[in-house]
Amino acid sequence: MKRFKMVQTLLIDLDHTLWDFESNSKVALMQAMDHMNIFDWVDDYDLFFEEYEKINKRYWGLYRQRQIDKDKLIVGRFEDTFEMVLPKAKGLGLKLNDTYLEFMPLQNKLMPGALEFLEYAKGRYTIVVVTNGFKSVQRKKMYTSKIDQFIDHVVISEEVGAPKPSPKIFQRALSCANSSKINALMIGDSLEADVQGGVDFGIKTIYFGDKENVPSTLKDSPFLIDSTDDWGQIRRILQPS
Ligand SMILES: [Mg+2]
Repeated sequence: MKRFKMVQTLLIDLDHTLWDFESNSKVALMQAMDHMNIFDWVDDYDLFFEEYEKINKRYWGLYRQRQIDKDKLIVGRFEDTFEMVLPKAKGLGLKLNDTYLEFMPLQNKLMPGALEFLEYAKGRYTIVVVTNGFKSVQRKKMYTSKIDQFIDHVVISEEVGAPKPSPKIFQRALSCANSSKINALMIGDSLEADVQGGVDFGIKTIYFGDKENVPSTLKDSPFLIDSTDDWGQIRRILQPS
């Protein structure tokens, strides 16, 4: 396990790795719809949110692959959801997006164990958050959830002009931390953006998720160190007793 002694810089994804994106976005979207007085139009919010999540995921995939731009992403994800389950709201996609993005960074729920891990890692490692979100939103999320105090650098795709898995954003993260590839470790929940990105860039990578989700193409990579969504386990991997 000696190889982990070399790790000095942690590149960590924000959404659904540190910050509980799923819980927080569900609450934020509900608050936004309530604020716009359209929440009462929804019969079953769980169902509505489930549909939105599926569509949103697809849109983010297209955005990462650069098949659509940000404008198409922010409106399309809501208009498509309305089309499917709330036709009455058609045309309100842009307004809902803006309202939702105002409520989103006011949520502060973190993934289990994330805070304790950051408390432990502060000072021991240089911590760089590497995220594909929007700059106006992502910084506020870290401030609201009070994790900004543990983070040394923040690298946001919108500022770099390239989302993960682009090597450009990983390179920027290393430059910020004045780190070399061999001293860096990437941790994230997206197989496409974080894991494939980290592995292709040539840095040690931990998949923040279930081993069973890892495709065979990634399984054998020497750069994929482990798969777990337990922050306590990640600490043990970094610092075996
Ligand atoms: Mg994520």
